[in-house]
Amino acid sequence: MSVVLVVNSGSSSLKYQLIDMRTEEKLASGLVERIGPGVGISTHKYDKECHEQRLEVSSHDEAFQLMLQNFEQHGPSLETHYPVAVGHRVVQGGRRFFGPTIVDDTVENDIEELIPLAPLHNQANLAGVRAARKVFTDIPHVTVFDTAFHTTIPDAASRYAIDRDVAETYRIRKYGAHGTSHKYVAAEAAELIGVPFSEAKTIVMHIGNGASMCAVDGGVSVETSMGMTPLEGLVMGTRSGDLDPAVLFHLHRKAGFSVDDLDDLLNRKSGLLGMTGTNDMRDVTERAERGDVEAEEGLAVYVHRMRHYLGAYLMALQGGTHAIAWTAGVGEHSAVVRRRTLEGLEWLGIELDDELNETHSDEARVISTPNSRIQVLVVPTNEELEIARQTLEVTGLQPA
Ligand code: ADP
Repeated sequence: MSVVLVVNSGSSSLKYQLIDMRTEEKLASGLVERIGPGVGISTHKYDKECHEQRLEVSSHDEAFQLMLQNFEQHGPSLETHYPVAVGHRVVQGGRRFFGPTIVDDTVENDIEELIPLAPLHNQANLAGVRAARKVFTDIPHVTVFDTAFHTTIPDAASRYAIDRDVAETYRIRKYGAHGTSHKYVAAEAAELIGVPFSEAKTIVMHIGNGASMCAVDGGVSVETSMGMTPLEGLVMGTRSGDLDPAVLFHLHRKAGFSVDDLDDLLNRKSGLLGMTGTNDMRDVTERAERGDVEAEEGLAVYVHRMRHYLGAYLMALQGGTHAIAWTAGVGEHSAVVRRRTLEGLEWLGIELDDELNETHSDEARVISTPNSRIQVLVVPTNEELEIARQTLEVTGLQPA
């Protein structure tokens, strides 16, 4: 059996999945939350059962050991399901990593060197890689970077118009994020509409708590809405997205906001949360429907920004667009957000089928009318599976 262990080590959590690559089925999954001081929570799912435990988990090494204990106690046994490789999510690969990479000490050092570009994420990702390499010493470890899919974005779209020396010295450019999801969804969308991935032109709407859009042309990313960091672009659960940078000078000079205050304001207290008091789209849409003015205004800004990018990405895809594919928490589940974003665009060849849009399903599906020149799709994302696929691909291992 070829199983791949996928590890997503975040700043205060460790997520894992064990995937059987012959069937691409998830065998088991788990999450260790609140790594650090205080009581952590470990959840392990296997064989339709969920095992939860509360205990202090002070480091990523301990979280990794807890994961091993979970497999030993609750199954499946890693002796009978020994992974052929471990795939690790890493957020920032900079201009150094253009695809999945087999880890050695040099790769570890290079990820470390990229920490200033993604301080919270890369450090935690690396801690997971290090913990895993200590335990699984005899199998390849592969890092799959969120930014790698976007390294194909042309310079004209990824450069910021600032002083060249400053940009180069501090590596300031658009790196994007959610690349693993965008690639997976674009490939699944191409399959769904029966166009080879190497020819398909798709706009992927990854709309979750974090949200970004991506124009994918012939299997490669040509534009994405997140920037040097995941703050740029769309309105998100707690992030502002695009903003005139001079707002920051103004808040600093007039209101005495420090750099940390501004970081906190824009990354954690803005977006839907800042505008409506909640970052859960279910609450926002329900309140808006009941006539709540704040919720309606917040939703209107949220939708307006997506339409703004949609217009831009239809331009970025030279020669036409085959499909618009919705994914992630909001994209997969909110018929209201999909309808409001795409309404009145029949003149562009975008025609949503209201009944299909309202129908709940966990399957990838078409939600536009047969007349719609650009097909509208819902494609549930699966970043872990994409990481596992890329891990096998780069190691040259075949599912057996
Ligand atoms: P992330 O991975 O960025 O944390 P997710 O992709 O899991 O986020 O999306 C989470 C968000 O999806 C929630 O904050 C919620 O707003 C939204 N969401 C989940 N289910 C629904 C639903 N049925 N209707 C509308 N929004 C939903």
